[in-house]
Parts: sequence; structure tokens; C-alpha cells
Amino acid sequence: MSTLNETHDPALQSWVTSAHVNGTDFPIQNLPFAAFRRQGSDEAFRGGVAIGDQVIDLAALATQDLFSGLAQAACEAGAQGKLNALMALGPTAWSALRLALSRALRIGATQQAALTTCLVPQTEIQYTVPAHIGDYTDFYTSVHHATNIGKLFRPDNPLLPNYKWVPIGYHGRASSIRVSGQAFKRPNGQTMAPGATVPMLGPCKRLDIELELGIFIGTGNTLGDAIAMTDAEAHVFGVCLLNDWSARDIQAWEYQPLGPFLSKSFATTISPWVVTLEALAPYRAGFTRPHGDPQPLPYLDSAANREQGAFDLELEVLLQTNKMRAAGLPAQKLVQTNYRHAYWTIAQMVAHHTVNGCNLQPGDLFGSGTLSGPTLDQAGALIEMTQGGKLPVTLANGETRTFLEDGDTIIIKGRCEKSGFAKIGFGECVGTLLPAS
Ligand code: CA
Repeated sequence: MSTLNETHDPALQSWVTSAHVNGTDFPIQNLPFAAFRRQGSDEAFRGGVAIGDQVIDLAALATQDLFSGLAQAACEAGAQGKLNALMALGPTAWSALRLALSRALRIGATQQAALTTCLVPQTEIQYTVPAHIGDYTDFYTSVHHATNIGKLFRPDNPLLPNYKWVPIGYHGRASSIRVSGQAFKRPNGQTMAPGATVPMLGPCKRLDIELELGIFIGTGNTLGDAIAMTDAEAHVFGVCLLNDWSARDIQAWEYQPLGPFLSKSFATTISPWVVTLEALAPYRAGFTRPHGDPQPLPYLDSAANREQGAFDLELEVLLQTNKMRAAGLPAQKLVQTNYRHAYWTIAQMVAHHTVNGCNLQPGDLFGSGTLSGPTLDQAGALIEMTQGGKLPVTLANGETRTFLEDGDTIIIKGRCEKSGFAKIGFGECVGTLLPAS
């Protein structure tokens, strides 16, 4: 588990002046990673680190030989087109690079002139998915989401008895994960209309969002070896925002007995920036179970997890419709919630995923599952917010929504703040629904 160190000092200021503009997501205390190149260029993608409104080009920095030892090795690994090699190096190397960057970016740093030549404005770049994602596993760690959804799909039996013992998950589709800015067609699929006796193939009518976090695995484990709770977070590179678009009508028909299939595999959108667990160290929270709920089995329990296994991370979802865009109206907030409401922690996801010996690999992605809070105004999916499409949401311009309409853009944002520490953000995860073909 990452501990506080000099890189978290809220008094640090960077010579990149935009890094201490009020409201920035990327002060010197954050330093998240992405893969990028200049917009409209045929340059190779390479790793970058956000500082204010700039990106530090790790490929350019690596050639300067500015750092030494593990920090230089991590910088060179991060210079590649995907971050898998950097992710594979492990927390000591990630931390060495973070410390070297933090020191080089501070006011008065001797490396300022050299580092200045490695900056690219964020307005001039395009991102790509930051890692080659070999496997994508989607968990289900919000008990509030599981209960709300369970009520709609199984009114007599909303929360299945395994939920409070097993971190539920399924193996998702990695090939359709794209970076923020993704536009995708409304999927076609097989559905069974209420009262019908024969299913039909056609465009999804109940296209939904799922507000989630993405968790990138760093160092993997050998096939056959489990990762213990006490070691679990050392295998996690960082966290991004994730929208796990879901076709509810297709899901309702196909999901039994093996779980979702085509209702999830057509598109998943992630934010470009991956915030490291080290950057998140100030915003940790205790992991607790509601009174009367079972405590986790020993392989899902550790003292560190109880003390600070959770994260105090504010999340919000915004919607901009075609009409709002045409009228010049900004996106409207639909939901605000917090990751600390999750029932299972990141460390528990890692320990559970590997307890059978399953091998994780650098760049593997976990979805947290929809992160709904305890009340419906904190619901991370439209199906919950509208109670299965029965209670439409009315927008400020008079439009209503149960599920998404063609042209709708969904924006997810995330932010951590705590008294005595810097505010850090996750950037944005943006996706737009196009008409079916
Ligand atoms: Ca999901």
C-alpha cells in the first residue's frame, strides 16, 4: 500500500504554471500516465505524464538521459507506444519515476530547461488506449447497484446469497475498449419483447451507461500462484474512469445462465489518464461492512485493507444531447456519487481473481462494476435512476430520458480532495452514441 511521501506535499509548486491554476485536474501531486501523439500527425504513440495543461513526452525525456537508475529505466519503458513495459516494472520503479518527475517539475529545478523541451500542450494531442489490454474482467462491487438491478431482473430475489461472500465478476471483451472520444453505433441484438413468443433481431432500445472505474494491472503473477491480500496493491498500476455501455434489453434476454455477452461487448470507453495508486495515497478510506453483514473470508482480509482499503473518490456523470449541443447548452449533470461506497476493494478484486491460480498480466484491465451509491440519485446507471425505464429523467431543456437516444454524449469525471492535500482529477471519459446501422 502506497504511503505518503514528499510527492504528496500540498505546498509543492511547479514551474509549469498551469499546474497550480485552481480547478486543474493535474497539479504536480497527481502526475498520471497516458499514451499519446500529436493530433493529425503520423507520429508514433508514446507514454506521457500530465502536468497542468501540458503533457511530458516520455519518449523525448528518455533520450535526454536526465534521470538515473530505476527512474531512467521507467522513463525508457514509458517511452513505448503502450505502457505495458512500464506497468511490468512494478511499484518501486513507478515510484522512482514519480519522484524524479516531481523534483524536476518543482520551481527552481535545475532540469527545467531540459524538461521544457519535452512538453506538449494537451490541446494539441490525441490519445490512445494506454496499454495493450490482454484481458478485461468486469466486477460487480457495488452492493447498491447489485440490489437495484436485482430488483428489476428478479423482484423476488434481488441480491443473490453469494454476493456478500464472493467478489462477483465475469470475463469481458478487451477488443472493443476504446479511449475517451469514442463514438459507437447503437448495437443490434436479439431481444424478446414482453408477451412475445419469438425473439427478434434489431437495434437495442434500452441503451444504458455504467459508471465505473478501470483498474490497470501492473506486474502480473505466475500461472498457478495466487496473489495474497498483503501483496495485492503492489500489482496495481493505477485507476482510470470507465463507461461500460450496456444494452439492457439484449442483456435481459441473454444473461441467464452464464451472464452478459453481446449486451456488453460492443463498446467500453476509458479515460486516457491512469492515476497511480501512489498519487491516490492521501485519499484512502477504511473498508467496513454494514452491521450484520459477514466479514470477508481470511483470503480477502488484511489489516491494511480494513484500515485504508477504500478510496474517497468523487464521481459524476454528465449528459449532452443533440438538442443541447445545437442550442449551445453545456452537458448536464445526471449523477454524483463516490467510490467509497463499493462493497469490495481493489485489493480484494486482485486477491480473489488469482486465488485459483489465474495469471494476471501487465495491462490487464478490471472494471469496478457500476458504482451506485446508497440512494437512487447516486445511481451509476439509467436503468436504476429511471427504475427500469418507468420514471423518465427530465432535463433542464425539457427533454426527457429513460435510456440513451442517438447523438447523446456521456461524460464521466472523477476527483479526489481532502483537507490538507492537493485536489487531483482524472480528466474525462467521453463517449457518444451513434445511430444503429
Ligand atoms: Ca459493468
